[in-house]
Order: sequence, then structure tokens, then C-alpha cells
Amino acid sequence: MKRTHHCNQLRPAQIGEIVTLSGWVHSRRDLGGLIFIDVRDREGRTQTVFDPSDLPRELFEQAAALRSECVVSVTGKVRARPEGTNNTKIATGEIEIGVAALEVLNMAEVLPFPVDDPEVARTVNEELRLQYRYLDLRRPEMTRNLRLRSKVATAARVYFDEEGFLEVETPTLFKSTPEGAREFLVPSRVNPGKFYALPQSPQQFKQILMVAGVEKYFQLARCYRDEDQRADRQLEFTQIDLEMSFIEREDIYQLIEGLLKRVWKSALGMDITTPFLRLSFAEALNRFGIDKPDLRFGMELCDLTDAFRASAFKVFSGAIAAGGVVKAINAKGLADATQGQIETMTEHAKSFGAKGLAYIKVEKGEWKSPIVKFFSEAEKTALREKLKMEEGDLILFAADQWLNACEILGKIRLYCADVLKGQRRLTIPGNRFDFLWVVDFPLLAFDKEQNRWYSSHHPFTAPVAEDVPFLKDDPKKVRGQHYDIVVNGVELGGGSIRIHRPDVQKVIFEEVLQIPPDLVKARFGYMLEAFKYGAPPHGGIALGFDRLCAILCGTPSIRDVIAFPKTAKGTDLMTDSPGSIEPKQLRDLHIELKVPPAKGVTTG
Ligand code: ASP
Repeated sequence: MKRTHHCNQLRPAQIGEIVTLSGWVHSRRDLGGLIFIDVRDREGRTQTVFDPSDLPRELFEQAAALRSECVVSVTGKVRARPEGTNNTKIATGEIEIGVAALEVLNMAEVLPFPVDDPEVARTVNEELRLQYRYLDLRRPEMTRNLRLRSKVATAARVYFDEEGFLEVETPTLFKSTPEGAREFLVPSRVNPGKFYALPQSPQQFKQILMVAGVEKYFQLARCYRDEDQRADRQLEFTQIDLEMSFIEREDIYQLIEGLLKRVWKSALGMDITTPFLRLSFAEALNRFGIDKPDLRFGMELCDLTDAFRASAFKVFSGAIAAGGVVKAINAKGLADATQGQIETMTEHAKSFGAKGLAYIKVEKGEWKSPIVKFFSEAEKTALREKLKMEEGDLILFAADQWLNACEILGKIRLYCADVLKGQRRLTIPGNRFDFLWVVDFPLLAFDKEQNRWYSSHHPFTAPVAEDVPFLKDDPKKVRGQHYDIVVNGVELGGGSIRIHRPDVQKVIFEEVLQIPPDLVKARFGYMLEAFKYGAPPHGGIALGFDRLCAILCGTPSIRDVIAFPKTAKGTDLMTDSPGSIEPKQLRDLHIELKVPPAKGVTTG
């Protein structure tokens, strides 16, 4: 429309051309009687110069009245900047435009926060940014994120198309299956008293698509989970979701490695190495204390169970006698940990039910710790050798049941790494990406409160074939054909090979998960029915698209890669939602509010 070039396009080659640029007033400087205006659009910015000696007075005054973020169209001649005034920070920094004509397309009021300075923007309160998201998104840093997100989506679509996948949309109005996270419910006006649920993922639909013979499905799917907002989660989020027929786990690994290779190349121009490392769940916990290990630093967990089996230190030998383990990590160089840091670590241990945290500081050649006096020489030697103890080390112990001991140290390991990073004693380059697959998860986990087994992934995950005989008598032994893809300590996604036989699926629902048969029928009957008519073996995976984009953008928050995210309380500050509704709307939906009505709503 009103432009010949975008604001990141002009170079010395265009000197002498008459051009028109349109965009926002990024900045205005009045210098030596001249007005300098940087015009910005999505692509970048260009300096324009208003010289009163070349321009009608009225036009110059118009320019003088422009504020940040007014929308303008300027026409003028491209010229070289005067000697010594080039701006090497921007791509158009060698030229400027001597303005001949200006059209003010719209004025802008004084902004609630400036968008032209990344340093200032960083200090702006996030709530204000979310309330005025359209201004926040004008910031080049945010535009970059949106652009990168779009690029990743396109790269994924092209990749899946090349691999023979069909993009199929699945419904957003789904049925309630309250097995996993809490769902969002949508009342049905025409079916009084009935509700839809928003899908937590397209899981059932994608499996049904396999029964429908689609063979290779993918979708950039919107998912909804009504969870209490833990750090950096969103109530609605996007998955790269896929499902394939006639495959084994290896096929998914290969496919996703190819996808990530493609995505990293197109988004960051980086070649990543495949195949990725694979760790079993047991090994990941044993070595890193977590099922999504960050492999960018060591500090691995060390098992000391054999060394302390007969220890005079009863906290250790007692834990072992009760079927537990003794494990430790060596936080190299952290003997100078402060009391406060030790307390934080102790709190981490206590959050897993431990009574306290045993540790040794190696300082001035001495082992400083109240527990060392209980250790025999053999035990000390074992510690020294296994943990490679040296001056300045901090040794931290966990004596507990295996999973707990691993998880305690896993959490403390991450904490110690953060402390070391904060002190610049551990540096991890921003462009380092350590990918791995975590495999061989237990199919089931035990819920002590409800005294029953539940699926560690979801109830459609197939058991590892050789473990099937233990399903009924020793469920904890059964591994699932479930896999997670992890990068830098972040779970990027997960999936599984599914159960495709209706009889096996029914056993899992009714006998292992102990869901009453009538509930199974009401919730999953249609799936069991579908599986009766020739369901192919199939499996799939879903990657968190927002998380993936955040990693690629190098931002810790997924809110930075979502155009209109919600706050931790689930509110949209720009549109002010969720909001009240009219009594008539409630009546139409056959809903009566029992809670004290929110402001503006009467139940009438
Ligand atoms: N639907 C699963 C999830 O959202 C992923 C999968 O199994 O494909 O976690």
C-alpha cells in the first residue's frame, strides 16, 4: 500500500532513490534544528531526517508534533549518512532518508511503557505488558519470538508432509473423561444438563484416526487443562501431536530426531547430532535423580548402599535395612555453601519426606560434619574413592527408599548447579542442546492415598511385551512402551506405543486401574467398540510446541512465545477474562449458580 520498501531494506545501493516507508515512530531526536525520526515496521527501522530548510513549515511542524508510536508514511530520497554518523547496530545504519513528504496515518497517545528500549522493557512489570499486549508485541524481541514460532510451525508442517502425514483437525468440544488433569467443561444449551469437555489432548481422536486407516496423522493441536497454575504452565497450550500405524518405538525416535534436526536448522541454523542418547528411566534416576536429566553438567549421583550396609551410623544402615539405599552427590567447590543455602537444600530433602540432610564439607583438609565421627575407616575410604573427594567439596547424602533418595538428590543437584551458575563457577553456553530419550518407564505408579495403581503416562500405553505376564500379580514390575524426549533438563514431549487389542485395554481399565466396568463403558466404550473392528498396532507422541519455541528463543517463559497468554491466575488482562455473564445466558444454559455470585451476576 503506502510503501515502496520495508524499514529494514534500504542499503547504500539505493542511494539516490525516492522511497516511501510506512510504520511507527520508533524514536524522535531533535538535533541542531533537524528532526531525526526512526521509522519502524515489523522488519526493522530506518532513520529519516526532517530539515526545515527543505520543507514547508507546516510539514516540519507536523513532524515536530509526532510522538513515539504515531503511525506515519514518509517519502524522500535515500542518502548516505554524514561521515562518522553510521549506526553499526542496525542493518540500515549506513543510510538515511531526507524527507520530502509526510503523511500522518494515526496519532498515538503517550504509551503506558516504552517499546523502543529493550533494557527498559525488561524492567516493565509483566502484568502491564500483558494488559497492553499489542504494545508489548511491537517490541522487536517479541516480534522475533512470533516470527520464530511461525517458522517452527511451518518447518514442522513441511516435514510431516514430506513424511506422508495428514494434518487432521480434531474437535475442541469433546466428552468429559476425568482420568487425567482437571478439564474445562462447556454446558450444552440444546442438551440440558449435559456438558462437553475441552480436550486435554487429542489422544482418543488420534487413536480412532488410526482405526479409521489414516496411518499417519499430525496436528498442531490446542489442548486445555484446568490445572492450578504451576510455574510456567498455561491453561491452553499447543502440541505438535502425531500418531502412526504399524510402527515400533524406534520409528518414533527416528521421526522425531528428524523433526528436531529440521527445526533446529531452520530456526537457529544449527546442525544437531542424531541419534540422541537413550537412558532408561531407572538409569536416569540412578545417575541424575530425575526422569528429565540435564546432561550439560555432571554431579552424578553415586550409590553407597554397599559401603554403609553395616554402618554404625544408624540413619544409613537403618534405611538400608528397611529396603532403602544410601546415595550421595559431590557438589565440587561448594564447601563454602552458606547456612541459608544448606537450609534450602534441607527443605528440598524434607519436601520428599526426609527428616534432614546429611552433608560433609571438605575444608582446610578436614571433613566438617557431625556425622563423620560415626564412620569407620573403610566407610571413609569408600566415600573418598567413590566420590573423588577433594578440598572444597560439599558431599550431600540421601538415605531413603530408592525413588525418594534419587529424587531428593536430583532436586539438590539442580539447586547446586543453579548456585554455581549464579557464581559463574559453572557456565553453560546458550547454544548447547543436550537431547536424550528417556525410555522404559514403569507402566504404573501406586497412589497410596487411593490405594490403587494409576498409569504413569496414560491408560492407552502398551506394556513392554515380555512384562505382560506380571500385569495382574506384580504390576510394579511392568515397563511401559512409553518414551519422553528431553533437552537440557526440560521434557519436550512424550508418547507411547498403544494398546490396540480391546481385550488388553479392558484388562488395564478394569483389572489393573480398577475403573468400574460401567464407568469404563460410559467413558471409553466407544474406543473399545472401535477397536473391535480391526485396530492396527499404533503409537505416537506429542511435543509441547510452546516449550519448544521457548527453548529455541532462549527465553525461560512460555508466555514470551504465546501471543496472548494468561497470567498465573488464568486471567487474560487485556480482554479482562474470565468475566461475568448475564443471568439470561445462565438460564439459557440451564445453569444456576450456587457460589456467591461474582460481581455483576445474579442467579435470578
Ligand atoms: N497425548 C499425550 C499427551 O498429551 C501424548 C501421547 O501419548 O501422544 O501427553
